[in-house]
Amino acid sequence: MKLTFESDFVESAVFLAIRQNEAEGSGGSAKQWHTQRDKIYAVKDTQSRAKAFRELDEEWFIRLGLRQRFDSLLNVFPILEDTSLVIRIRRALSRKDEGSELYIQGKVKTNLIKFQTVRLFEADYLEKFLHHEWLRVSDMLDPVFQYSPHAALSGASELEDNLIRDRYRLLWEFYVSIRLLKMGFRILTSLTRQKQLMDRAFSKWTAEAREKILWEIANQKHQTQSDFLKLAKDEKLMVPLGQGGLLCPLCHFTSFDPADLSFQQNPMVIEEIKRDHPNWNIDWGICQNCFDLYQSKPRVAV
Ligand SMILES: [Zn+2]
Repeated sequence: MKLTFESDFVESAVFLAIRQNEAEGSGGSAKQWHTQRDKIYAVKDTQSRAKAFRELDEEWFIRLGLRQRFDSLLNVFPILEDTSLVIRIRRALSRKDEGSELYIQGKVKTNLIKFQTVRLFEADYLEKFLHHEWLRVSDMLDPVFQYSPHAALSGASELEDNLIRDRYRLLWEFYVSIRLLKMGFRILTSLTRQKQLMDRAFSKWTAEAREKILWEIANQKHQTQSDFLKLAKDEKLMVPLGQGGLLCPLCHFTSFDPADLSFQQNPMVIEEIKRDHPNWNIDWGICQNCFDLYQSKPRVAV
């Protein structure tokens, strides 16, 4: 893996770090930096001068410990040691512009990370941000996650696609956050806030359903991109209980509580259900509520 910094980023980061040193009164190195810069100003040839400034910035980027912060954060993610991976750090000019993307072109994978240099001096923002982005990129590179940049959202409309995309991001973000916390790191968006967002995005689900999914994610029951897409698509809501879904084929409500339908114990109840729902078969399952209803139904002797 190759970690590179765009010169704009390095220049701005060094400048801000020097200014901070001066503000804190530890101006010894700042003085040295100014002296070195003044010497470069004297260089007449524009190109050589620009080159000298760039080299000076790069030298100070290391000297001020800025580069080291990135290197030590990277050490946490062994998957990123991939030799075909290039990580580029670019300066973002606004908050809106911040983020990270993975581009795959043939055998070369490029992770472009953009953020404002001022973030380097905001408590542990850099650590939280990069841990998050690099665990996400690790997922994309991990065969277990089975990531595809072209995975289909398969919504019925653009509106539905947007909804699926939002939910998928929220679920994945939670999956990333929960693992970072387990690794002992701090996270950018608190779990409380993430849960609030999920309550809104998955408002059709019951509170129990949401809790159950979060518990499953926290316990790594969903580990692939398609798991998260399926949950985001609500597909489970359309599949009968007995076939791994959450739909009760009788009452058509979402249920996380399938009844145990072992035939030997409850032959009468099964017969009752079949009488009312001739198309129903035992493999579809039934929710506990419906089951209880049938079990308590007074039987008419035939
Ligand atoms: Zn039911």
